[in-house]
Amino acid sequence: MKMSSNISGFYKLSPEKRLTIVKKFANLSEEECQLLLNTGSLPLDLADRMIENTIGAIAIPIGIGVNFLINKKDYLIPMATEEPSVVAAASYSAKMVRKGGGFHTSSTSSIMIGQIQTVRIKNPEIAKIRILKAEKEILNKANAQDPVLCSLGGGAKNLTVKIINTSLGSMLIAELHVNCLDAMGANAVNTMCEAIAPIIEKISGGHVYLRIISNLATERLVRARCVVPKEAVGGIEVVDGIINASAFASADPYRAATHNKGILNGTIAVILATGNDHRAIEAGAHAYAAIKGQYTALSNWTKNEDNDLVGTIEMPMAVGLVGGAVKTHPIAKIALKILGVKTAREFGEVLAAVGLAQNLGALRALSHEGIQKGHMALHAKNVAIAAGAKKENINLIVEKMIREKKIRVDRAKEIIKEIN
Ligand code: NAD
Repeated sequence: MKMSSNISGFYKLSPEKRLTIVKKFANLSEEECQLLLNTGSLPLDLADRMIENTIGAIAIPIGIGVNFLINKKDYLIPMATEEPSVVAAASYSAKMVRKGGGFHTSSTSSIMIGQIQTVRIKNPEIAKIRILKAEKEILNKANAQDPVLCSLGGGAKNLTVKIINTSLGSMLIAELHVNCLDAMGANAVNTMCEAIAPIIEKISGGHVYLRIISNLATERLVRARCVVPKEAVGGIEVVDGIINASAFASADPYRAATHNKGILNGTIAVILATGNDHRAIEAGAHAYAAIKGQYTALSNWTKNEDNDLVGTIEMPMAVGLVGGAVKTHPIAKIALKILGVKTAREFGEVLAAVGLAQNLGALRALSHEGIQKGHMALHAKNVAIAAGAKKENINLIVEKMIREKKIRVDRAKEIIKEIN
């Protein structure tokens, strides 16, 4: 019998009760239900409080990126990812970079921009001037929403106003610039935007619709730079391969998308491990990559007069050490303890270095031996596991599939039969 997905009051049920409904709907076995309910280090009741309609949790491996030297400080990097070879590549790249003195990083302060959209204004130019005149009153109202942030030296710092042309006519967009210090800041900024909206509406005589943070955090940038000795990276030919790959990504959005995905492989793994909002970082990264009108690479690789490789990266990084899930998820707390960062800015700078390392690993493999060699061994392991290989047989099956250049589940299954 077909069941409906229209389930009223689902959210009011306990995870166990919800799961009995899902079990019936999807024909889950008792064993499958137990796997869902066995939420490991994230207790089920906490998971239930974190999001809505919880029925379980998914575990993603956390690996440690080693060899990272950033501003002369050693870091161990907790990385949560389902993708093989990410942690190995980051660690290998960090080792190469270490030979050139490690990563050097910097950042702007932690300013996030909140937007208030106002429409149906008779004279937007006059409204703009009036709103700017009331900046002090508006900032005071915004800051009254977050005494904790303000007491620490953060809060709304200034207000700008722009008039944009849209398919529905001109709109006035007021932008609140808020120093979020060690918070990612979305809740803080959204609360401020909602609080000041009535003032803006009154002054402009228009109608406010949206009041929300922008994920294009152009005033919260992190940067990293490294010099990798040509010997460490594999010689002049590899250096040239990498700088050509970089030029390709800078000029071609199709390549830039994959180039940037490689950067985010590293960055997002750390973001996930620390319970931060990875969608915010991804949205910001891609929007920043397109900010000059054409989507391009977030990093750049050149060579210096000694033919050593020089890498740089700049990207927005709205991450927090407080707020959101950072302080509630038990593993996120441990991940941050391993990372040992003291401020969100230091955290963001480490993330820039990890992104640059990850990018180097991918470009080196691509312009040298090709990415599949390293990737495939790990991929083959997953294929063997997916085919149902016993732990003691995995290596044998992996070696056989690689030798035969047939890394497929059907082949793994055949080999399992041959063994048994
Ligand atoms: P939050 O409101 O939980 O915590 C931030 C607050 O912590 C600050 O406002 C401040 O009052 C307090 N605080 C204490 N010590 C601080 C310090 N040292 N520095 C700064 N603040 C300190 O969280 P948040 O960071 O405002 O919002 C993050 C959450 O918002 C994430 O879960 C994110 O997923 C979610 N979110 C994101 C978006 C978006 O990105 N578009 C939209 C809505 C919500």
